[in-house]
Amino acid sequence: MAFVLPSLPYAKNALAPYISEQTLEFHYGKHHAGYVNNLNKLVENTELADASLEEVVKAVAGDASKAGIFNNAAQVWNHTFYWNSMKPNGGGAPTGALAAKIDNDFGSYEQFKETFKTAGVGQFGSGWAWLVLDGTTLKVTKTANADLPIVHGQVPLLTMDVWEHAYYLDYQNRRPDYAQAWLDNLVNWDFASENFAKATA
Ligand code: FE
Repeated sequence: MAFVLPSLPYAKNALAPYISEQTLEFHYGKHHAGYVNNLNKLVENTELADASLEEVVKAVAGDASKAGIFNNAAQVWNHTFYWNSMKPNGGGAPTGALAAKIDNDFGSYEQFKETFKTAGVGQFGSGWAWLVLDGTTLKVTKTANADLPIVHGQVPLLTMDVWEHAYYLDYQNRRPDYAQAWLDNLVNWDFASENFAKATA
């Protein structure tokens, strides 16, 4: 049973002008699809071929001899989570229980935004910015390359891809402009709230 590239939750042109159709053609159609294809080749005829994606990620995390499997499996997971972390006409502030928790743990939504943006802009090289639930506390974290919160005992609520392939066609070197546009116009608080509700149920 091979791993499958999930459908995008919106059309490839639905995030424009903040993320162009051309970026999604490459980012989803080439990069994400490539990770799925590589993963399938790497686990073919091994005991991992029938495991779930999360099981694969957790099984090989930290095993240097399986870094190729980890990188591809984690990148499949990260990208699916990233597509869902955005939506057309996103942005704005969260509501309900998550909004109250953000106010409590970061001081204010504006403070959260600054912290998240700083994490994304400050990640040296390729990686990800995350809003996670760590125990009972919300935190902003950043990870390098394919690394992800589920192997660090944290529950991810949102992620922003800061690999250059996520923004270079639209913003070139201006990662801060991408992060700002992402928070102002794309972030999907419904998705984050669902993840928060599941994690705290
Ligand atoms: Fe990416």
